[in-house]
Amino acid sequence: MQPDQLVDINRLPLRQIETLPDGRLRIGALVTNTELARHSIVRTDYPVLSQALLAGASTQLRNKATTGGNVMQRVRCNYFRDGVSPCNKREPGSGCSAIGGHNRSVHAVLGTSAQCIASHPSDMCVAMTAIGARVTVQGPNGSREIDFGEFHLLPGDTPWKEHALQPHELITHVTLDAPPEGSRSGYLKLRDRASYQFALASSAVIVVMNGPRIREARIAMGGVGTKPWRAREAEALLVGQSASMDVFAHAASVAFRDGRALYGESHPRPVAISRAAVSFLRPMMVERSISRSESPWRIRTRTCRYWYISNFLFKPPSGANACRQSSGW
Ligand SMILES: Cc1cc2nc3c(=O)[nH]c(=O)nc-3n(C[C@H](O)[C@H](O)[C@H](O)COP(=O)(O)OP(=O)(O)OC[C@H]3O[C@@H](n4cnc5c(N)ncnc54)[C@H](O)[C@@H]3O)c2cc1C
Ligand code: SF4
Repeated sequence: MQPDQLVDINRLPLRQIETLPDGRLRIGALVTNTELARHSIVRTDYPVLSQALLAGASTQLRNKATTGGNVMQRVRCNYFRDGVSPCNKREPGSGCSAIGGHNRSVHAVLGTSAQCIASHPSDMCVAMTAIGARVTVQGPNGSREIDFGEFHLLPGDTPWKEHALQPHELITHVTLDAPPEGSRSGYLKLRDRASYQFALASSAVIVVMNGPRIREARIAMGGVGTKPWRAREAEALLVGQSASMDVFAHAASVAFRDGRALYGESHPRPVAISRAAVSFLRPMMVERSISRSESPWRIRTRTCRYWYISNFLFKPPSGANACRQSSGW
């Protein structure tokens, strides 16, 4: 990219985090990822967001990365970045090197098209998708609001169009919905390294319990979708159910029913989907352990990740170790 002009927006007054009278939280576009993650209200009322932010990039990057910039970071893969491989996003009509190529890590299984399969890279946006939010933008025609779930676009036939901003529009704020009363939330990210790495799969889960049963569930997934992915069908079937492994497993399989795995030569068959499904289950297990006053560690040690995969979801390919490379566990 070679822009004709660069505009420095850093001196705009968009660094505040404020609670609105209706209980929502308004975040200025220039609030850094570190400031947002460490803010007392975010830590208390939106732990899923704080955890997601702290799982992203590195300390140095989070100190500089802004809320607006993270929402706007490009959906891309290594072929896009190498500058020479055919890539429909960089050069429309040239083809997609990832389809049939190396597509193990930053490639999606949900929302893909024949044009592009790159997964959305943001952790913060996954948490915001689960929470529910509005993006406020300012442009030549004034200010308008966009629902967070509609801000990022699917690649379809135009993978270079990634968001709903019009030319000359600027994000000024992201406003989070008030957290559901009595909710608990968590974010889990699986990746190749414990830090400084994009998600192979992640999930943001918000749950409200009514005794042993789930009253409300909100689930969003990262690393597996071409945009931050809300799993509404899975949410709906959890409502009214007791928190059990069978229920979680069913919800996970529903969430990935439309998943389409692509197998590059270095990508064993169902690894992307199985990892994502496991990551989807884990925060629910943590929630369950809290509701039973058990430690998450006990839950974690007595249930094996292979057991999740092979018994509930997909059989790992013979000879392949689906979880070997995951450092998130
Ligand atoms: C090595 C590396 C690893 C990373 N790992 C992760 C990760 O694991 N998880 C994760 O979530 N993120 C990750 N990131 C992304 C990082 O956290 C930043 O969010 C991202 O680099 C954007 O940086 P920035 O906020 O400084 O935005 P900029 O680089 O300043 O801007 C990014 C784009 O957004 C546009 N933009 C910025 N602000 C606005 C606005 N207010 N309105 C409209 N357009 C705007 C800019 O014009 C530009 O096109 C990683 C980044 C790097 C370089
Ligand atoms: S997945 Fe998307 S970004 Fe990657 S090569 Fe294909 S078109 Fe380009």
